[in-house]
Amino acid sequence: MKYIVVSGGVVSGLGKGITISSIGRLLLSSGLTVTSIKIDPYLNVDAGTMSPFEHGEVFTLHDGGEADLDLGNYERFLGVRLGKDNNITTGKVYRKVIARERRGDYLGKTVQVVPHITNEIQEWIERVAHEPVQEEGESKVADVCLIELGGTVGDIESMVFLEALRQFQFRVGDENFMLMFVSLVPVLGSVGEQKTKPTQHGVKELRSLGLSPKVIFCRCSTPVEPSTCAKISSFCHVPADHCISVHDVDNIYHVPLLLMEQNLHNMIATALKIDLPINPPNIADWRKFAVSIDQFTVTCKIALIGKYSTFQDSYLSVIKALKHASVAVERDLDLMWVEASDLIVPDENDPTQPPLEEGETWEHRKAKHKEAWDMLKSADGVIVPGGFGVRGVEGKIAAAEYCRKEKKPYLGVCLGFQVMVMEYARNVLGMSGANSTEFDENCENPVVVFMPEIDKDNLGGTMRLGARDTLITPHANGELSTSFHLYGKKEVVSERHRHRYEVNPEKIDEISKAGLSFVGKDETSTRMEIAELPRSVHPFYVGCQYHPEFQSRPLKASPPFHGLLMAAAGQLNEFLEK
Ligand code: GLN
Repeated sequence: MKYIVVSGGVVSGLGKGITISSIGRLLLSSGLTVTSIKIDPYLNVDAGTMSPFEHGEVFTLHDGGEADLDLGNYERFLGVRLGKDNNITTGKVYRKVIARERRGDYLGKTVQVVPHITNEIQEWIERVAHEPVQEEGESKVADVCLIELGGTVGDIESMVFLEALRQFQFRVGDENFMLMFVSLVPVLGSVGEQKTKPTQHGVKELRSLGLSPKVIFCRCSTPVEPSTCAKISSFCHVPADHCISVHDVDNIYHVPLLLMEQNLHNMIATALKIDLPINPPNIADWRKFAVSIDQFTVTCKIALIGKYSTFQDSYLSVIKALKHASVAVERDLDLMWVEASDLIVPDENDPTQPPLEEGETWEHRKAKHKEAWDMLKSADGVIVPGGFGVRGVEGKIAAAEYCRKEKKPYLGVCLGFQVMVMEYARNVLGMSGANSTEFDENCENPVVVFMPEIDKDNLGGTMRLGARDTLITPHANGELSTSFHLYGKKEVVSERHRHRYEVNPEKIDEISKAGLSFVGKDETSTRMEIAELPRSVHPFYVGCQYHPEFQSRPLKASPPFHGLLMAAAGQLNEFLEK
């Protein structure tokens, strides 16, 4: 196993994850199999209990692991399937060591950070690196394991991991270990001078810990000049051509191409003594994808009805899935962010409406309300993604109602699916106050209810999580099912879940008789997975309890997202006829 470890310095948010994913893509295009590990130095055991507002989305893995969003980038760029152990956190490592200590495994010894925690980290890395990956075809043990150390060098929290990695380079041997560093090269002053000091400091700090990077990636707004590389080379103990310019590009998919142009694949092959099966790397499909994104002239407007619309990382995989699907329909994606609660008519006398925020007036709120509806109405398609908690739900229901009545293409994911069912029950079946017990425990018509097997007291890792099969019926209410076609006429599909509530089994009959067809169910037929309106009634009104966005890939758009974009771009009829 060859290990490439990447750490970052200076500031966070440099695009370290994208840089590493791009290294992986380049190696993949060189014929190697690649796996990856993300190390998050925080104390949380996993990202499942962390607010998406603070930390970005919780990326859900096939095995039900709730991970940092960087794992999503790895899966999308590397085309592999990772597991929960591919995300190491301080919380996980300590939990394991402490459990062992309680069992008495350490035979009376004093349990210490060095060597017990550092050994545990190294063993964890070696074990996970050897887990077979590969999404399609046979699974294989990877040739190369990419390890991202989260945080920045110098953080107290990262220290134990850096020490573990320092030891690790001896454990696996020099020709199996390559350290890389992602740094920031700011451009300052009227002449736009590229500054190397932050990089020098970062590398100095790393070297003082016994780790010397062999490649330095310089994040910079402009291409890094040869003179800048020469300077970094002399101060940071790397050859000048190992100082790689990762300057701003039109879109992130260009980064693997940028790395290839600078010969990174051959540097890695030399340092790690690997024969690249394909050299030069075969990156043609990827290049086509990256270049095409910048060239579409017709746009497709999609409104995303969300809750944290100011922080787009909360919906990262949804955005990526929309992007992949827009490329598949050859449209430039125009994504409009609609804050769900803005869709509700502002009413000063309604005590259920949130109080005004500081500096806000009812006039502001009315203006925002109008703006939100203008966006929704102008959209070619609408998506209501997953979510938790009552805020914004009534706005999402209003959006589902509008799309149903106005025949606007609509995709509901998880909560967006539950909202469809609530809206249908209220407005078509006339079930007054139909709701989810998540939002009103004592509602008159609970059409979405808590799943019986879920733990009410512990929030960490207790949802219905990970991949489950959905059985899709080809026909429903006498018509062909759209979802069945979108999934290439497969009767069984596997998608990832992350929820606590489900459609109330007692209401299913009534709802489907009224026209909302549940064309996808779990293998017991009791849990509803996909709902849609027949095509004779609506061009595209589809919802799924699972999160298809987690399995969307740049060159392989997720079927429900592809369906939404085709409907929005006026291409769905043609697709279904074919
Ligand atoms: N809050 C809903 C549930 O737990 C939906 C979850 C989601 O959208 N991920 O079932």
